Amino acid sequence: MDRVIRFQTSRGRDAIFYDGYSYWFDRRAASGDIFWRCLRDGCYGRLQTNVNLNQPMVRGDGHLHARNPEEGIIRPSVARMRERAATENTPIPQIYQEEANRLSYSASASALLPMLQSIDSALYRARRSNFPPLPRTLSEIVIPQSLQSTESGEEFVLLQLQDNNIMVFGAPSDFDVLCSASHVYMDGTFAACPELFRQFFTIHAFFGERQKIKFYKKQFDVLWPLDFCQLRMYALVYK
Ligand SMILES: [Zn+2]
Repeated sequence: MDRVIRFQTSRGRDAIFYDGYSYWFDRRAASGDIFWRCLRDGCYGRLQTNVNLNQPMVRGDGHLHARNPEEGIIRPSVARMRERAATENTPIPQIYQEEANRLSYSASASALLPMLQSIDSALYRARRSNFPPLPRTLSEIVIPQSLQSTESGEEFVLLQLQDNNIMVFGAPSDFDVLCSASHVYMDGTFAACPELFRQFFTIHAFFGERQKIKFYKKQFDVLWPLDFCQLRMYALVYK
């Protein structure tokens, strides 16, 4: 017998897939049994299950469309993308690609997976439900309380000018390390910088035992980022 696959619709409604058809939650009977109705608008397909989603019984006048076995793979896959978009900060295109790769065992399901462009607005909507929207202007920048301190409870925001032109981040214990280091390394980049800012400036130092890492076949000392600040230099802004 086909098994019942549970998933959530794009509107967060409980839904199931069974025997080629998808249903959303309709109502619960006093006995605890659950009644489901076909996801397709205007279709008369109905299903009844017990509370554990076992013993599905087909109800109603039947479906007005053919079975779609791939839906049982695709709908849960898209639901998983939405859940990941809401709970992870992995870039949306990467989530899509990873979930698409998981379907690669089924050529027919892969072919029917919606293109990213057709579902990305739902994924970004899911992301916005749990993450604050990106600020569009400097004045919109509000650093959430949870991001103002390190995991060990140290203050992390060292400087935030009133107009947010300059923001400096670092923990006081990092300063101790910087002050005791024989060398500090500073560099600013204009390329990898949040959009509202002009420059991303970092200060690094070696501390503890030097560690080696291999990168592009070369050995490098590990340099821990200790301290970083973002600068917006008015003299450099031409926009
Ligand atoms: Zn139907």
